[in-house]
Amino acid sequence: MTDLAGKIALITGASSGIGAATALKLAAAGVKVGLAARRADRLEALKEEIVHRGGEALVLEMDVVDAEAVQAGVDQLVEASGAIDILFNNAGVMPVSEIDELKTGEWNAMVDINIKGVLNATAAVLPYMIRQHSGHIFNTSSIAGRKVFGPGYTVYSATKFAVSAFSEGLRMEVGKKHNIRVTCIQPGAVATELPEQTTNPEKRRQLDAYRAAIRFLDPEDIAGAVLFAAAAPAHVNVAELFVLPTEQA
Ligand code: NDP
Repeated sequence: MTDLAGKIALITGASSGIGAATALKLAAAGVKVGLAARRADRLEALKEEIVHRGGEALVLEMDVVDAEAVQAGVDQLVEASGAIDILFNNAGVMPVSEIDELKTGEWNAMVDINIKGVLNATAAVLPYMIRQHSGHIFNTSSIAGRKVFGPGYTVYSATKFAVSAFSEGLRMEVGKKHNIRVTCIQPGAVATELPEQTTNPEKRRQLDAYRAAIRFLDPEDIAGAVLFAAAAPAHVNVAELFVLPTEQA
């Protein structure tokens, strides 16, 4: 097993949902967590909770679309902690709408945050991990990055297919050469704030109805999967984590 105590992690999208739950779980395992997102008040509250439970955390307010801000946050974490062992590329958005609504602003936000955000954070940590000759990068795809869903999810699926493809290529490029592990996480339905960005009332109603119809995963369920892969022995790369609610088709 890899002992996680004393490791340093950066978690993007740590202000809610899966990111916040993973921050708590990693911190409980002794990992010092860099908490990244735009809502600094939420990050401060999470940091307080982590410290209250005996853990260590650093708030790094950033928009993952802003490459300079991401680099500054990563540099700050490494300066404060001496290393970066884990990157959890988790920040993401899913505004659901049908293609003929032409909500191009929402399409661009998904491309910028879900894809370019992953690239920005990866580029910021890689030089450090290469120098260390160790590291573990988690990228958050989705069940929608394995299969295209019905009307409304087309651009979201496209961004998550990109994340799945990037993860697989990245794993092949940095595994043997730089001793860096890459894990692609593909969750099914998780009970988080994700539906809240959907502006189409009918799509929002469908999302809420689905939430009521089956027992969703809790964010902690994905956090547990992340912990499992991070704690695997150094020679073991859990390349994919496809985690679904038992009731999800
Ligand atoms: P939440 O909406 O609860 O969390 C999303 C997080 O992303 C928030 O912390 C938000 O913080 C952050 N974020 C969004 N945009 C930016 C940005 N520009 N810069 C920095 N941070 C940003 O949803 P989830 O926890 O569900 O989502 C986490 C990931 O899991 C996403 O990538 C999502 O696509 C994926 N996923 C979720 C599933 C689900 O069913 N919930 C299923 C499959 C995948 P802030 O607004 O403060 O910046």
